[in-house]
Amino acid sequence: MGDRTKLAINAPIQVGGSLFTPEQLSTIGTVVGVDAKIEMTTFKQLYADVSTDRRDAIKEELERQGLEVYPAGFATKSLIACNFCKGAEEASLQAAQTLNKAIAGIETPMPLKIGYAGCALGTSEPLLKDIAVVKMRDTFDVYVGGEPKGLKSAFATQLLTGLTEDRLVPVVTAIIHYYKTHAKGKEKFRKFVERVTLEQLQLLAGKG
Ligand code: SF4
Repeated sequence: MGDRTKLAINAPIQVGGSLFTPEQLSTIGTVVGVDAKIEMTTFKQLYADVSTDRRDAIKEELERQGLEVYPAGFATKSLIACNFCKGAEEASLQAAQTLNKAIAGIETPMPLKIGYAGCALGTSEPLLKDIAVVKMRDTFDVYVGGEPKGLKSAFATQLLTGLTEDRLVPVVTAIIHYYKTHAKGKEKFRKFVERVTLEQLQLLAGKG
């Protein structure tokens, strides 16, 4: 059967949430090949197990259809955003799209989930993500260390409040890169936050 690899596929961040067009779904079904396994993950990405030889061609075809394709496994997932029910402007769709572009697919010691909610109702469950951005009135709050799995599940803790939109990408990418370079082996992000301390991350974010 030859070498296989996994691609993470998702619809663009948009009002309405993870919406696929019939044409996009049909393209996925056609290009991945009859022997591909397609999995619906819990983090809004489809994982397609495809032949390594055809990986680049498949990625190109999917991107031509407006889909986004990222590495699977030990990387940041694409931004797990809400449905922007309050509208693109009110919930800052543009900020979420820009953040997604900056953070999706970065290689990390353990898979990293970054959440986004367009208001404090937080229907995308941001506090259960490793890093979360929540839009408040005109600014954003950032949380770190959410852990939804296991018996020691925990909510993320507020790291920063009142961030302006232009600070989002520098701050979140600074945290990710700090984790990348300072994690001990396959240290989980929550454990890492506990070890390096919130204060240290706040200092770092101030410089980000
Ligand atoms: S987080 Fe707020 S803006 Fe986003 S879908 Fe939920 S209620 Fe709507």
